[in-house]
Amino acid sequence: MTKRKPLIAGNWKMFKTGPEAKELTSRLKSLVSDIVDVDVMVAPPFTALAVVAEAAQDSVVYLGAQDLFWETEGAYTGQISAPMLTAAGCSYVIIGHSERRQFFGETNETVNRKIKAALEGELIPVLCVGESEAQRDNEQTFSVVKTQLKEGLEGIDTPGLERLIVAYEPIWAIGTGKTATSEQAQEVHEFIRKQMETIGGNSIAKTLRILYGGSVKPKNIAGLMAKDDIDGALVGGASLDADTFAGIIRPCSHLAEGKA
Ligand code: PEP
Repeated sequence: MTKRKPLIAGNWKMFKTGPEAKELTSRLKSLVSDIVDVDVMVAPPFTALAVVAEAAQDSVVYLGAQDLFWETEGAYTGQISAPMLTAAGCSYVIIGHSERRQFFGETNETVNRKIKAALEGELIPVLCVGESEAQRDNEQTFSVVKTQLKEGLEGIDTPGLERLIVAYEPIWAIGTGKTATSEQAQEVHEFIRKQMETIGGNSIAKTLRILYGGSVKPKNIAGLMAKDDIDGALVGGASLDADTFAGIIRPCSHLAEGKA
């Protein structure tokens, strides 16, 4: 039986100044200091990476970034590269978040380039996929997710796929308070795992951690985590308060043994 260790990731988006991020991290660190069987990651804005790295030292809290650019350096005003993130202490990077696709022209092709750059830079990419409300209403959820996976992961080899994390984030559930039911989420997670079997083979599919994202709160995490193919959560709003975020992390402890 393969165990998948839960990962709870906090996407702080464009919230928290350096001092605020430092305070949040310190509080979170003390709240989850006894939890060893859940991976915790926070992705602050770029300007807070250094302070969060320092505040999270000697804890179970890993550092992630919210995006990166695919070149390693050059005349690309405003961009941040994988080596810069690694040097800042990041182990993870979120790629293809729906807000980047919606507001900043991210496509499956740019997502693919960014995943390759992240892997080249020794970062763990968290690839976000998910359908809009209209796409769900038109029964396009599976085809949209299939294309996002196929095109986003084009040309990625087995060692790269072994490091990948996928986050299923239905756009209609992000920041809206409308969580997908555990059953709706499980159905798509199972589909993602099947697609990953086609893309990378059985072993990749079995060990892949698939996170759910979309209005995750302390009150709905247990129901989501009870599902076979849900291995953690990507949390937006509820990760901005240490006590609330810890209230999502704690129920995920001691769960891994039961999952196939
Ligand atoms: C997100 O931004 O990835 C997200 C899931 O946000 P929220 O938890 O606020 O819905």
